[in-house]
Amino acid sequence: MTGASKGLGLSLTQALLLKGHQVLAIARSVPPPQDRLRSLKLDLAEIHQIDEVVSAALETLPLANFERLHLINNAGSIEPIQPVTELRAENIDLNIKLNLIAPMIMTSSFLRTTKNFKGPRTIVNVSSGVAEKPKVSWAAYSAAKGGLRIFSLTLALEYSSDPLVKIVSFNPGVMDTDMQGTIRSQSVANFPDVERFKGFARDGILRSPSVVALHLVNLLAKPENIHRVEITIQDLLA
Ligand code: NAP
Repeated sequence: MTGASKGLGLSLTQALLLKGHQVLAIARSVPPPQDRLRSLKLDLAEIHQIDEVVSAALETLPLANFERLHLINNAGSIEPIQPVTELRAENIDLNIKLNLIAPMIMTSSFLRTTKNFKGPRTIVNVSSGVAEKPKVSWAAYSAAKGGLRIFSLTLALEYSSDPLVKIVSFNPGVMDTDMQGTIRSQSVANFPDVERFKGFARDGILRSPSVVALHLVNLLAKPENIHRVEITIQDLLA
């Protein structure tokens, strides 16, 4: 589980622990390890260390004792929120590394390290509405999420003949997390649509990440019921 320190990732970690799962929590700030929770402090923007560090961490787990395995690529950052003319190389680089390259490397490491696992394996890549519908001033984030969506669809094609590997591109919808706080803190010059997002918070439209987490964890309990790649929170609530 990446991005396990707050927001949706923390809610997913708590929901998975409640259901009796073992969790490997990855983020830059991680909770102390406890029963069934292992923590891996890792900056996922440091892409060249991901494969070695994550493979080594997976190899220390008693994988053969587990019924099924899930990788949830949830860590993300929406910044920079700026018109394209204001973007700078460092910010674009950081966004694409965290939101797109890191989950691709995580997926590759996970599938390789666990290739002899006998049970079901599921990979969830947390997506966003902007993977399909662009938004002004979110160019880097939209490009990364759009890329991650196509990566998920490509991966699903590669594993289409393996019923034990499921790929999910999951759009959680708008949630009440720090990411939404970052959006609301933008100036109108940086983000012309900022008032609409302030309205989401004011009007109670933001969903609690714990509700989203519960539905996703329920889906993961039965990977055999996953029949398509692109799944939204609305699908799970229906
Ligand atoms: P959040 O509250 O801002 O949490 C982001 C998580 O990512 C944190 O745990 C953070 O941990 C981790 N992270 C950030 N940079 C990292 C780095 N360099 N290395 C490792 N971990 C890093 O965000 P959220 O709202 O829960 O978002 C979760 C996912 O949902 C993201 O993929 C986001 O794009 C997606 N999403 C969110 C919304 C929404 O309305 N919130 C809507 C659609 C999609 P550390 O800071 O401890 O490293």
